[in-house]
Amino acid sequence: MKRDFIPIPIGSRKRIALVAHDNKKKDLLEWAQYNRDLLVQHELCATGTTGTLLEMALNTKIEKLRSGPLGGDQQIGAKIAEGDVDFILFFWDPLEPQPHDPDVKALLRLAVVWNIPVACNRATADFMISSPLMAESYERILPDFAPHVNRFTDSPLLLETVE
Ligand code: PGA
Repeated sequence: MKRDFIPIPIGSRKRIALVAHDNKKKDLLEWAQYNRDLLVQHELCATGTTGTLLEMALNTKIEKLRSGPLGGDQQIGAKIAEGDVDFILFFWDPLEPQPHDPDVKALLRLAVVWNIPVACNRATADFMISSPLMAESYERILPDFAPHVNRFTDSPLLLETVE
C-alpha cells in the first residue's frame, strides 16, 4: 500500500538548536535559565554568540556553530536536512532588519519542510518545553518526498528525449 507519510522516530533526548538575534538574547537567556533543569536533559547546539552566552548562563556544554550572520543559521538548516535537529528555539527580532535575513527565512522554511517544531517567542517556548512529548519518544511524520526526488528519473518520456 502506498504511504503518504513517513514517520521519523525522535527519542526522549531531543536535539535542540537555539538561536537569538541580538535584541532577543536577553529574553532567551532568561528563559533558558528558568528552564535550565529541563533543557540540560537534551542535546543542545546554538549559533556562535548565542551558544557562548548560553554556555556561561547554564554552565553546560553546547555545540557552538558559526555566528548566525556568518553562516550559523545555514549550519542549523543543514543539520535539519541531515535529520540532526528535533526542535528549534529561534527568538528572531521582528523589529530590526537583519543582514542575514535570507538565511533566517531559509532556516524557518526548512523547519517547516521537515516538520520541525519551532518556538519563535517565549510563550511558544513555554508551551513547547512543558509538553509531555518533550520527555517521550515521538513520531514526527513527513510527507513522502519520493515523487519530488524521483520526478525526472520516473519519467520515461523525459529520458527518451535525452537519449
Ligand atoms: P549569534 O547569531 O548567536 O552568533 O549572534 C544569531 C543570529 O543572528 O542568527
